[in-house]
Amino acid sequence: MTNDDSKPTTTDSGMPVSSDEHSLTVGPDGPILLHDHYLIEQMANFNRERIPERQPHAKGSGAFGYFQVTGDLSAYTKADVFQPKQKTDTLIRFSTVAGERGSPDTWRDPRGFALKFYTREGNYDMVGNNTPVFFIRDPMKFQHFIHSQKRRADNGLRDHDMQWDFWTLSPETAHQVTWLMGDRGIPKTYRHMNGYSSHTYMWINAEGQQFWVKYHFKTDQGIEFLTQENADRLAGTDSDYHRRDLFTAIEQGDYPSWTLNVQIMPFEEAKTYRLNPFDLTKVWPHGDYPLHEVGRLTLNCNPTDFHTEIEQAAFEPNNLVPGIGVSPDKMLLGRIFAYADAHRHRLGVNYKQIPVNRPKAPVNTYSKDGAMRVENTVDPVYAPNSKGGPSADNQRYPESATWEVNGELMRAAYTLHTDDDDFGQAGNLVREVMDEKQRDRLVTNVVGHLKNGVSDPVLQRAFEYWRNIDREIGDRISKQFNNS
Ligand code: NDP
Repeated sequence: MTNDDSKPTTTDSGMPVSSDEHSLTVGPDGPILLHDHYLIEQMANFNRERIPERQPHAKGSGAFGYFQVTGDLSAYTKADVFQPKQKTDTLIRFSTVAGERGSPDTWRDPRGFALKFYTREGNYDMVGNNTPVFFIRDPMKFQHFIHSQKRRADNGLRDHDMQWDFWTLSPETAHQVTWLMGDRGIPKTYRHMNGYSSHTYMWINAEGQQFWVKYHFKTDQGIEFLTQENADRLAGTDSDYHRRDLFTAIEQGDYPSWTLNVQIMPFEEAKTYRLNPFDLTKVWPHGDYPLHEVGRLTLNCNPTDFHTEIEQAAFEPNNLVPGIGVSPDKMLLGRIFAYADAHRHRLGVNYKQIPVNRPKAPVNTYSKDGAMRVENTVDPVYAPNSKGGPSADNQRYPESATWEVNGELMRAAYTLHTDDDDFGQAGNLVREVMDEKQRDRLVTNVVGHLKNGVSDPVLQRAFEYWRNIDREIGDRISKQFNNS
């Protein structure tokens, strides 16, 4: 069929081709010729379509949008993106953690909430989760933790015994595991969950004063969850349920939004606060540090090409802007290395030149060459130089996200603050935040999880772990397990 108005199919180099259907052969029944470079290009490209999936957070979905500042927190940060009335383009990627690229969206798991602000001062990324805490507090344990959540070496299966083995031997996981086994462990959709920085960050104002902050993106759609039963059903009938929901909502003009609030701690208070404010397994109770509104994130644009714009999106917590810095949270400091390193492996050293990752702010860098560099490097290629190249401006951009430390080099746990313990906040969540129905579902979810392949001695340790969180809930779990 020919159509004079249609675009002719071409090779990747733009050469029109004569058939979308037939290989080049010697006669209609003859062998295929090696110089059918069009067929070879098709096969070779196909073989290379998959890039390494993320390890972890492989399954995800994303959308573009904007962030509109509604509050005035200019007294706490000079970051341009958070100045009154500022509006900034954004990209978000939601994800599950342990599953592979094709895994069901509705498995019980924390969700990634990775956000890129294309600010006038360079890209600012907040690589958060839908939970305010995390399982561990030292990056040395991260690789082990993820191994325990993914698949066994021998049969390639996920294994609840392995998960509970790690969790019960790592009591700092108790807060996050309680959260995970509760209703919020399976959000109804990506639109119906909050996002948190989880980490503590530093804000710096125009006078150079420093503050510690935690971010809370509260869903304007309201929190909704799936029961284990509904999630299991959806995993079989529509494993892309969350991806479909997000894309469809935006396609239909039902734009989801989140209101960003921050908790702010004066710099000096961190030393004497009753909890270690940099411990990723802890929240700052709202009663101590209330929320302050910053602005609203709205998603209003779906990707055009999932691979180019979402699969190749590279978020990294080291993408910071003037007025925002890191904190002594060891997990955050570990992630500062790990994310960029993962992108270099997955996407190549020039991944920041992929359009979705390219800053909208001017880039004046001395990086050069490397595979797949597509933007020209201009001379001079070294600093210092007398040839008009960029030079670092310590007056306008001083190293301001700093703090003092002093001590011997060692491998050690954080110094304990007065109220630091592994089970206290998990117990508060069970006793003070969850209602009776939520506690019932928590017990049922834990028992169902334990019934799925957990055996002694891990099983006995799991009962003890829950008794440490809350004696009554531990007893209920043990009883329901033994009676069912
Ligand atoms: P608050 O009563 O002020 O806050 C409790 C918070 O818990 C709510 O604001 C809500 O967070 C969140 N929440 C409600 N239901 C659930 C649930 N089923 N699963 C998980 N979280 C839920 O008390 P505190 O600030 O003193 O915190 C008490 C406990 O609440 C903490 O130990 C922690 O487990 C949990 N929590 C605390 C958060 C914090 O930053 N302080 C944030 C989230 C949970 P949200 O408003 O963000 O939806």
